Amino acid sequence: MHPIALPGPVAFALSALEAAGFEAFIVGGCVRDALLGCTPQDFDITTNALPQQVEAVFSGARVIETGLKHGTVTVLLENMPLEITTYRVDGGYSDGRHPDQVAFTGSLREDLARRDFTVNAMAYNPRVGLADCFGGQADLQNRVLRCVGDPATRFTEDALRMLRLLRFAARLGFSIEPATAQAALALRERLKQVSAERIQKELTALLQAPGAGDILIEYVDVFGVFLPELLPCRGFCQQNPHHAYDVLTHLARTVDAVLPKPVLRLAALLHDIGKPDCFTVDAAGVGHFYGHAKRSAVLAEAALSRLRYDNETKTQVLRLIEQHDLHLDPPDQPMERTIRRALNRMGPELFFDLLDLMRADNAARGVPHAERLAKFDRVEALARQLLAEQACFSLRDLAVDGNDLIAAGIPKGREIGLRLNALLDAVIDNRVENEKSALLRWLKDAP
Ligand code: ATP
Ligand code: MG
Repeated sequence: MHPIALPGPVAFALSALEAAGFEAFIVGGCVRDALLGCTPQDFDITTNALPQQVEAVFSGARVIETGLKHGTVTVLLENMPLEITTYRVDGGYSDGRHPDQVAFTGSLREDLARRDFTVNAMAYNPRVGLADCFGGQADLQNRVLRCVGDPATRFTEDALRMLRLLRFAARLGFSIEPATAQAALALRERLKQVSAERIQKELTALLQAPGAGDILIEYVDVFGVFLPELLPCRGFCQQNPHHAYDVLTHLARTVDAVLPKPVLRLAALLHDIGKPDCFTVDAAGVGHFYGHAKRSAVLAEAALSRLRYDNETKTQVLRLIEQHDLHLDPPDQPMERTIRRALNRMGPELFFDLLDLMRADNAARGVPHAERLAKFDRVEALARQLLAEQACFSLRDLAVDGNDLIAAGIPKGREIGLRLNALLDAVIDNRVENEKSALLRWLKDAP
């Protein structure tokens, strides 16, 4: 094994602890990522020093007593926060969520044994080398996720590990060792004991992983424990020439095809969950889903609230779902007007997100549709052009404001808002130029 390159503050922390007579290793995700050849996001350190002893070793640095109860001290070295945790064994998990108590131990092996997967249960120190008590390096080479110890016991202790398993599988593209996979499927109902906040955090991370789609399909029974709306989508045949996939496969492919932003990935996952409720078949035997965007948004709102997503995320996801079938080139009006109206309703950022969702939705049908793709390119180019020309989409962009209207003799109060909106409508429709005197003239002439 090649030595792992450590950032200065990490190397310093390890040697400072060793110089004080303690053992110290980097551990967990950073070892896994480094051995995979990627740069770790953050470095966690494990040591046999007790928290007070850690604080004493780093008395010259800024120390934050983050998780003192769990033995964790955060030390800030050259602006790099390092979590330093005392070797510990977790007590029982009577609620399937939190260890009832944690006990410190002098044994690195015991500390590694409490960790979830073999690839996450390795520690490293430049002097000692790799501590790999559970075959993590071999599993890493074979690209396999496997519980440390008996999977059923480990998932019963902490049910969230089942979702962590799927998140790592989606992110690393590893396979799941059969006994570990079977235990996760068998014990999935225990996820009901896990708090919505913890599930939400894992789900959001999982959805952004490159292999999310396949995991969603293969483990839909697990996801169905906290997102039961997905279950009727599995195998739901759309009987429509524009769709080669069942609803679940289409949702999963859409997730993979949108940009990895939480709002877009959530919208992709949920954008068609209302389809099974809206299914009709016409006289020619073709399936339709009239009203499914609305229905999907209703179901998505309930699901996102259940998982305690914040209001801003919820609002944006619901907006995207409601609009995902927006007709961009209706025959009775110029495309420019449709775009201006959409920009006005959603703002530029969400509108471009919507275009990304629409492209992904189109790409995820399993039926090529080149002219649709060309249309999205046209819409995007036109929207960017309108923005570059600083076209007017909202009251803020209008060349007059309430004071101008009052000065022009419009009575204060409700009337002002109504008139401003009428002016904005006229500007968006190109019936009047967005220029002060033109607007005031139009106002006088308007009925
Ligand atoms: P990421 O790159 O996503 O942060 P990570 O492996 O660092 O991956 P963390 O959630 O930061 O994951 O946890 C750090 C380490 O703590 C893990 O590698 C694992 O050893 C251990 N761990 C975290 N959560 C659990 C858990 N629920 N059960 C057992 N061990 C856990
Ligand atoms: Mg981590």
